[in-house]
Amino acid sequence: MSRDIYVDGAWAASAGTERIDVLDTTSEEVLGSVPTGSVADVEQAVAAAVTASRSWADTAPAERARYLREIAAGIDARADDMATLIAQEVGMVKEAALRVQVRLPALFFRSTADLLEDYPFEERVGSSLVVREPIGVVGCITAWNYPVLLVATKAAAALAAGCTVVLKPSEISPLCVYLLTEIVDEVGLPPGVFNLVSGPGPVIGEALARHPDVAMVSFTGSTGAGKRVSQLASEHVKRVALELGGKSAMVILDDADLEGAVTEGVARCYQNSGQTCSALTRMLVPRSKLAEVEAIAAAAAERHVAGNPLDPASLLGPLASAAQRDRVRDYIQLGIDEGAKLLTGGTDAPEGLDAGYFVRPTVFSEVTPKMTIAQEEIFGPVLSIIPFDDDDQAVEIANDTVYGLSGAVWSGSLERAEAVARRLQAGQIDVNGGPFNPLAPFGGYKQSGIGRERGTYGIDEFLEIKSLQLPQDATTVSSPSA
Ligand code: NDP
Repeated sequence: MSRDIYVDGAWAASAGTERIDVLDTTSEEVLGSVPTGSVADVEQAVAAAVTASRSWADTAPAERARYLREIAAGIDARADDMATLIAQEVGMVKEAALRVQVRLPALFFRSTADLLEDYPFEERVGSSLVVREPIGVVGCITAWNYPVLLVATKAAAALAAGCTVVLKPSEISPLCVYLLTEIVDEVGLPPGVFNLVSGPGPVIGEALARHPDVAMVSFTGSTGAGKRVSQLASEHVKRVALELGGKSAMVILDDADLEGAVTEGVARCYQNSGQTCSALTRMLVPRSKLAEVEAIAAAAAERHVAGNPLDPASLLGPLASAAQRDRVRDYIQLGIDEGAKLLTGGTDAPEGLDAGYFVRPTVFSEVTPKMTIAQEEIFGPVLSIIPFDDDDQAVEIANDTVYGLSGAVWSGSLERAEAVARRLQAGQIDVNGGPFNPLAPFGGYKQSGIGRERGTYGIDEFLEIKSLQLPQDATTVSSPSA
């Protein structure tokens, strides 16, 4: 049986005749391939999702939760295989991939299942009964940097809400998503509830975005492609959720523990070799502390030893593709040309790593807010240190970008850090290294996106809200089956 596309609860051959090679980011050798897909595949998948949507919407939330928990268990059972594939396809070092790209998606499925136990699908507002209903068929389009995590975030919430899904993963790192789909298949979701079609965004993604029977598109990727998806979706006034790019700032105030904050900031910039939408790529520091910060940041960067992501000694893997490596190196050259001070790193390959898509961990200082490297998303291990004179100026610089995805503030005073965090225009701000919370909403201000994912906020996105205006004297209401 061909594993080309997954439609109506079964693997099937794609109508597309070509294939897309998936390359190993370290050896540059072919790891596998997926079909280019075709619009006919999308038609078939959407039709299956439409057929399945009524009965899936009618399942009890507890039944949907059971499937989500089984998917989580399936991911855990295949965790090592999945982490290996992600290290090869994306370039993230395996140990980190296991934690962030495998265990976390499993946690998202599990925690979303838990939320279904008392999610308020219905509530009384005066004489009205407000009911939340699944929006219908959801087209999910995802990026390559966190392939399984992005799918898990969307699919867990959409399935929990009672929606059916047609997924188009990135063509750069689809193999781990195929593995996830095998797990979904083993769990035995009703046919048509989850469907997968591979292929290029401008063909398969656009066919989903413009399809009249797709009620909503949930997209993660670049701001440019997100705008295109929005345009196409507007033809049928369909709902769009967009998780887009970022240029997030870490603001280190003058009373912060510099060693701790700067070291953490470098690590947060270089996570997944910088291929992270919420990466803290701008480090804003008091001008009076600049020399001290530079020394700590350069030393921390140089500790990020680049190497094969399957080697436990490596702290920084390659980027996901040759195009991405070249793009990042061009940005490093641009930083040099614009007059930023190169503290460490540069445009050459790290020593001994001429094969593979490696980029040297790079730190620029004396970056000014209007430089290209301070404004554009680079998506590689490149940190820009920007000095400021006072807290007001720090806030102004932090907010001076078209993006608004995330950020961080460090201060010796929690109160002062929180006050600055409240002034930052971004959807998620870490305060003094506050821990990751899978239930907290995540999403962007400004051109970083529309909508929120994770926790109950993520489920909300996939629901329509209906008011039943009941007679004043109505006393009984039906409640959702549990
Ligand atoms: P792209 O925008 O290139 O691609 C994202 C997805 O969209 C891919 O599946 C791609 O298909 C598809 N696509 C491309 N063009 C279109 C189109 N015209 N219509 C419909 N779909 C299309 O982003 P990248 O994959 O390069 O990912 C990097 C970007 O994603 C960064 O900007 C990053 O910040 C952002 N991102 C945001 C996150 C967030 O949560 N806010 C999280 C992770 C990443 P194809 O297979 O052809 O590439």
